[in-house]
Amino acid sequence: MTALVQAALRVRRTARSMWGVAVAFLLGAALLAGFFLPSDRSLGWQHLAWALTWATVFGTRARAAVQHGAEPRSSFELGALLLVGVHALVQLRGGVVSELYPLTYVAVALGASFATGWAGASIVAFAAALDFGISFFAEHISDPSVLAAHGFFVMSFGVLNLVFTRAEISRVRRKSKLAFQAQQDRVRDETRLFRLVAPASEGLRDEDRLYQTSVQEVHQALYHTIELLHRTLGLHTCMLLMPGEDGERLHIVELVTSSEDIADGPFTLGSGAVGAAVRRKLTTNLQQIRAGYRGLCYYRGPAAVRSFLAVPVLDNGHFRAVLCADRLDDRPFTPKEEELFRSSTSHILRCVENERVFVQLESSKRQQEILYRGSTALSTALNQDEVMEVGLSTAAEIAPHDFAAITEYQSEGRRHIVRRAIGEHNLDFQGLRFRDNASLTAMVVKNKHYLPYRGEFDAKQQTLFTKKAKLKGMGSLLVLPLVVREEPIGTLIVAAKSAQAFGASARETLQALANQLAVAIANARAVRLLEEKATTDGLTGCLNKRAFLAEMEQRILAAQRFRRKLSLIVTDLDHFKTVNDTYGHASGDQVLRELGRVLKRVKRETDLVARFGGEEFCVLCEETDARGARLLAERVREELQNTEVATELGPLKVTASLGVATFPDDATTAEALFAQGDKALYEAKSRGRNQVCTV
Ligand code: GH3
Ligand code: MG
Ligand code: MG
Repeated sequence: MTALVQAALRVRRTARSMWGVAVAFLLGAALLAGFFLPSDRSLGWQHLAWALTWATVFGTRARAAVQHGAEPRSSFELGALLLVGVHALVQLRGGVVSELYPLTYVAVALGASFATGWAGASIVAFAAALDFGISFFAEHISDPSVLAAHGFFVMSFGVLNLVFTRAEISRVRRKSKLAFQAQQDRVRDETRLFRLVAPASEGLRDEDRLYQTSVQEVHQALYHTIELLHRTLGLHTCMLLMPGEDGERLHIVELVTSSEDIADGPFTLGSGAVGAAVRRKLTTNLQQIRAGYRGLCYYRGPAAVRSFLAVPVLDNGHFRAVLCADRLDDRPFTPKEEELFRSSTSHILRCVENERVFVQLESSKRQQEILYRGSTALSTALNQDEVMEVGLSTAAEIAPHDFAAITEYQSEGRRHIVRRAIGEHNLDFQGLRFRDNASLTAMVVKNKHYLPYRGEFDAKQQTLFTKKAKLKGMGSLLVLPLVVREEPIGTLIVAAKSAQAFGASARETLQALANQLAVAIANARAVRLLEEKATTDGLTGCLNKRAFLAEMEQRILAAQRFRRKLSLIVTDLDHFKTVNDTYGHASGDQVLRELGRVLKRVKRETDLVARFGGEEFCVLCEETDARGARLLAERVREELQNTEVATELGPLKVTASLGVATFPDDATTAEALFAQGDKALYEAKSRGRNQVCTV
């Protein structure tokens, strides 16, 4: 039912969207039949009906296209309607021979220019077909050269317009993109000019917006000051100039003038009357300037002004900007006015400074938020991998970078390991191990202080990890120590391709992150150690009884499900009490450790080894029948027999007896399997020890 309704709706939708095209085709067919050609009949009501229909359809479709935006289908519809309309008009005026015929070329050109997507080519094709049809059927032109000429003109008009319009559209797009880019660059340049915090790196949208509004705020405040001076003191020009980043040229920052001859700048720092004020860091006051004077850099031609004043803006004796003013009339700048200008400069300085503090506060607030989120995530991360993951993603939020890594320092072996690396060529470094060397990483661990000092990185001069494993293509680098209770446990590393990517504030936030990261890593390690302790035997490092039994239950279930065999080897040292009594308990422990090592060496990857308490050990062998287990037990026995343990009383050799039981042949539960294994062991003991017995 719903399918039927949907189908009906679809038909309606298609019909509604197609009726313009339908009318165009109908009218096209009428044109082919020569319906509008003047004949004996004069203009009749049919023609009027057609004209009305066409106008209504074209009008409503055009309005819809304007309202909803022209998609290819509707622009084809409009193009086709326009073409048939024009052809009808031409036919009314006598057809191909009429003076209106060239209008059809205009129509195809228009259709092609305004069409979007595939519609452009379709309109040209439709126009060519229509022209051919009308010429051939309605006008009975059959001369191929005439038909070809018509076709050629229609196609040329259509295609040329299509190509030119598309080219123009892409040119305009490119231009607006460049303009947008230029706007972005200007904001970036001006934040540097005002010495607001330099944007850390590309791509920080929120920060960008913050700088943009700050730049606007500074401009507004400066403009008000300068405008006020201009108005109240009857100035011709009043402007503030600031040195660019290179410190060698002056840029116009704000300006109010009645002159139309202001140069764009930038201007050479030390030249002319402005330069004099800058160089000497003193107010320069010129009076009765002669006509044709060229010493004012900010005018294109000779200045028409008669008096000039330049007051340098100084911040603790450092030159920051210069405030310039001039007048057309003969009134020189009075000492009082000089004073007014000087107090304005301190206002200017304050307003730039305020803005800088605001930006810093705002950006540090944002960084605190990131840090807070990061530390919450760090505290909930469960293991070391997760902790590192969170640490690196938080670092990326604080300071966008192209490479980041976390290294671990193992103080016993004095080794560094790259535990995790992300970004450019991360796989070259992931898992890299190296000894303490002269690398930045090693130095940071040694001194517990970040490096390099300025955050700049030169791969030719500096080594991050080792001489061989080079980090290339980075302009900025920061290696921060991970320290827990005064102990260095590794480093957090960030690197970026751009220069000066990590400013002081980003570095401080990253160090705060590094401190939390260090604690989180240490905690994750402590948890892992605890977990290990809970499942392993302290003396030998083998599994303990509890862990072994839990795992054994699982493996028996799996063996049952997949109908596989599984064998248990039970081991007991021979006359161990005597060993303890003769060589002492410490040597006894040494023997136990040795047996643990032998078992771990001989067993296969998937086998489990456990110390069951005292001097009894068990091995669980998956997918192993009695024969296989026996062979394994035999190898253990031989290896142990051939192993010497050094004691104070000289070398000691011990033997062991081993019993083997197999699931499901000997038993089908863990408990029964142990009982059977013990039975086999007892058998081995009673047969004279140092041997293997099966059930
Ligand atoms: P048998 O050949 O019949 O096994 O003789 P045995 O002396 O080894 O007898 P049994 O297996 O009953 O001996 C257990 C002895 O193992 C008792 C104790 O002195 C020793 N032992 C148990 N746990 C430890 C341990 O943790 N360290 C040391 N050094 N000795 C242990
Ligand atoms: Mg025993
Ligand atoms: Mg024993």
